[in-house]
Parts: sequence; structure tokens; C-alpha cells
Amino acid sequence: MLEVRGFDEATKKAVYTTQTSKADKKGESNCPHCAIGHDANKSKIWSFNEMDADHVSAWSKGGKSDIKNCQMLCKTHNRAKGNR
Ligand SMILES: [Zn+2]
Repeated sequence: MLEVRGFDEATKKAVYTTQTSKADKKGESNCPHCAIGHDANKSKIWSFNEMDADHVSAWSKGGKSDIKNCQMLCKTHNRAKGNR
């Protein structure tokens, strides 16, 4: 699968690490969408391989592929958002 608008591995790992340590301290999921949910996943810490990078501002609307515009979402939420 070709990912021309993706983030590179170093960016994803850096964002994952920051997001996960913050979430872990709060006892929340490291997927921001899971964290505001009401099911069992709201405190789930996903592993790096279970998550995908997401553009906070949509790439199609001019959002850049840099670290400030990157958040990690679990694959379910990433897919749900990406198809819109
Ligand atoms: Zn999620």
C-alpha cells in the first residue's frame, strides 16, 4: 500500500511516545477517541502497531504531514475518520 501523504516512522514513534505517557498518567486510552468513549477501550493503552497516524487538520484541507499535525489513533478510529 502506497502512503504518499503519511508521516514517517520517526514522527509516528515520537508522537506515540508522548501521547502514551500522557494518557498513561491520566489513566486514559492513548487513542484520544477511545478516551472520550464509554466502553472498555476508554482506558486501553494500544501498542504502537495497533495505531495509525492521523492528520489533526485533514491533509485534503491543507494539513501538513509534520509532527505538530500528527496524532495517533487506534486503527478502528483512524479508519472511521479516514473514510469521510
Ligand atoms: Zn480509538
